[in-house]
Order: sequence, then structure tokens, then C-alpha cells
Amino acid sequence: MTVERGSPGGTAVGKGIPLDEELGSLLARLDAEELRRSDRPMRRLPGALVQIEGRRLADFSSNDYLGLATDTRTAKAAADVLEREGVGAGAARLISGTHPVHLALEGALAAFVRAPAALLLGSGYAANLGALPALAGPGDLLYSDELNHASLIDGCRLSRATVRIFPHRDLSALDRRLGEDRDLPGARWIVVEGIYSMEGDLFPLDALVETAREYGARIYLDDAHGVGVLGEGGRGTPELYGVEGEVDVVMGTLGKAFGAAGAFVAGSAALREWLLNRARPFVFSTAPPPAVAAAALAALEIVEAEPERRARLVANARRFRQGLAEVGRSVPAQGTGHITGLRVGDAGETLRIAHDLEARGYLVGAVRPPSVPAETSRLRVGVSSEHTTGQLDGLLRALGELLPPAAG
Ligand code: PMP
Repeated sequence: MTVERGSPGGTAVGKGIPLDEELGSLLARLDAEELRRSDRPMRRLPGALVQIEGRRLADFSSNDYLGLATDTRTAKAAADVLEREGVGAGAARLISGTHPVHLALEGALAAFVRAPAALLLGSGYAANLGALPALAGPGDLLYSDELNHASLIDGCRLSRATVRIFPHRDLSALDRRLGEDRDLPGARWIVVEGIYSMEGDLFPLDALVETAREYGARIYLDDAHGVGVLGEGGRGTPELYGVEGEVDVVMGTLGKAFGAAGAFVAGSAALREWLLNRARPFVFSTAPPPAVAAAALAALEIVEAEPERRARLVANARRFRQGLAEVGRSVPAQGTGHITGLRVGDAGETLRIAHDLEARGYLVGAVRPPSVPAETSRLRVGVSSEHTTGQLDGLLRALGELLPPAAG
């Protein structure tokens, strides 16, 4: 058995060591490497603000790209269901039945991403963990971008298919690998994100569709950070690249641009039916609370009815990227700017800059391993439609002062 470095049982401490003693030494190692994480009380407030320890900070750390997490209309939609029916779904859907709001949300999401059908799951993590092993198995080949999210990596591993990891966004390396494997049996799946959550760069989906077609491969797209945001209608990366209907499976979450929680997998009616039967996190898990589904449905209606939110986000992202260029920071050429990873490298240094930014009133994520590869720790800036120009310019000024010259 291989054990990840730093996992209990992976150390040579041996038998008879009390669990807490072993965990204590592992935590001390995280401390020494400045990789220990902690959570702390926080409240979200309207206007892209958070309240932490009594202070109000401008929030650049979250994925609430359209400000819908604090929208009172989605809260009202949830409250109506809560008042009538309480909180719990009671059981997995295949046991007791499906609440009509789950079906209404699935129908609306499918229509939104221009797919015949969609299936709702409890989270994006659960969706990837469930869908990939339901679709690929031993003898199949999964081609996975090296910077894919942990949930995609885990879904690939759990499938027990052969996993080929290709360099980030490198279509010619992918093409080569597919060519080398041409005579192997099994289905081929290419697994990518539409927009990378820690880099902010886009996968060129139009070219990917061509490559997939050439090799008879299928595409599994995680559009967690694209859906609701990218494309004229906010329908995500496939809309942006003009390849709607050409991606076999699209996963989107409801906890980011939609400001709620949960996720969906969209594709053909057969896909939905298969996942309903075989995606284990769907089959074996209590259905998401109907009130949360009602909130997500209300959020979807707002996303469709208020394109001005996306327009504000685009304008804010542009202002932020221009500002970064003015203070001498390079930004990924690919990408729209609602996510920017500013590489610092060292984990401790990244933490210290985030701490200094916080002292000036800006909450920015300090992203360290295992969320990103070793020595690529970074500040991750998420821009929202709700940021004011004052908040954006203030953060830019602070970054200009605090970032080391080499950071990009
Ligand atoms: N995929 C990607 C690319 C993500 O960034 C995330 C969330 N960090 C997920 C999946 C998981 O989504 P959820 O938060 O809904 O579990």
C-alpha cells in the first residue's frame, strides 16, 4: 500500500504509539513547513464584505463571483420551503423519492447549459467522485490535466482506469499521448477544467473538441468556475468557445457563482439515467436539502435575468488585470480575470503577505500545498461583480506595495 507523506500510518512511528501523539507530531511537521491550516469564524455580508473578529474586510478570497451568496431573493426562496417543510430531505432520492424542487432545478440547469438532462449532487466534490468512476473503469484510459482539482484526481483514482497525466493545457502533449495509446483497448476520456481554479487560465475547449474527435475520445469537463460567469449568457466555458453540445459531460457547482451549494452533472438523458443508477455519492447519500435547491433555482433565474451582473464582473476583472499590469505584475494571457493566481512561491512568505493585506482590510486567499504544487504557493484573488472601484484600487495599491518584485 502506498501512503501519502504525512498521513497517519505513513510515518515510521510504529505500533503502540497513541493516535494523538502521532497526529501531534504530524501537525508539528505541518507547522514547521508553514503548511498548517486553520479555520476561523467569519460572516459574509452584502457588498463583497466579510466580518472577521469584529472587522469588516473586502472579500477577494471567495468564489461568490456574482454576489449571490448574500442575495435576499435566494434566501427568501429557501425560507419559503423551510417554513413549509423544514430542513431535511429525509433520505437518498432513490429510497424515498425526489422532491419536486430537485427535478425543477435539474430541468432548469439542463436548459441553461443547453443539455438534454442534468443530475443534482450534494457538492462538486461528490459529483466528480461519483461520475468519473461511474463512467470509466479498469481497462479505460483517463487523460487528466496535471493541474486538475483534487476532486477530479480522486475521481480518476477511484475509477481504477489507467490515468495519464498531461502537462497543463498542453494539447500537443495530449495529442502525442493519445497517439501512442492508439492501439490500446478501452474508452478514452479527457478530463479538464474549463477555467483553472488556482491559475485563472482557460482550457482551449474548441481545440480540445477537435483532438477528442480525432481520437474518438470523450470529454469530461469540470466547469465549476465557468458556469454562471463565462460566455455571453453565462452558460460557461463551452458557450465561450462555441462548443455547446460537443462536450460529453459537464459538471458545474452551485456553491460558487450561484451562491448556494450542491452541483450538477449535465449531458444526455442516458448519462443522467446511468449516473442516477451508478454514481455512488448520488445513490448512497441523503438528497440535498430542498430549501437549498430552491435557493439555487432562484439564483439561476437571477443569473439569466440580470446579465448586468456579468457585465460588472467583466469590467471589474478588466480593471483589476489592467491595474496589475500597471504595478508590473504579469497576468495569465488566457483567462478573463475573475480568478488570478499571484505566485509567491514560498508558503510562509505567501501567508505573511496575506496577513499584511488583511491588516489593510483585504481578505485574499493564501493558497499553499496540497491545494497547489510545492513551491508554487500563491495569493488567489477572486473578483466579484459587487466589488467597488474603491475596493479594487485599494487592493491593487496594497499588492503593489507588498508583493515581492518577482511575483507574477
Ligand atoms: N472542481 C473545482 C475545479 C473546484 O474548484 C471545486 C471547489 N473548490 C470543486 C470542483 C468542488 O466543488 P464544491 O465546492 O461544490 O464541492
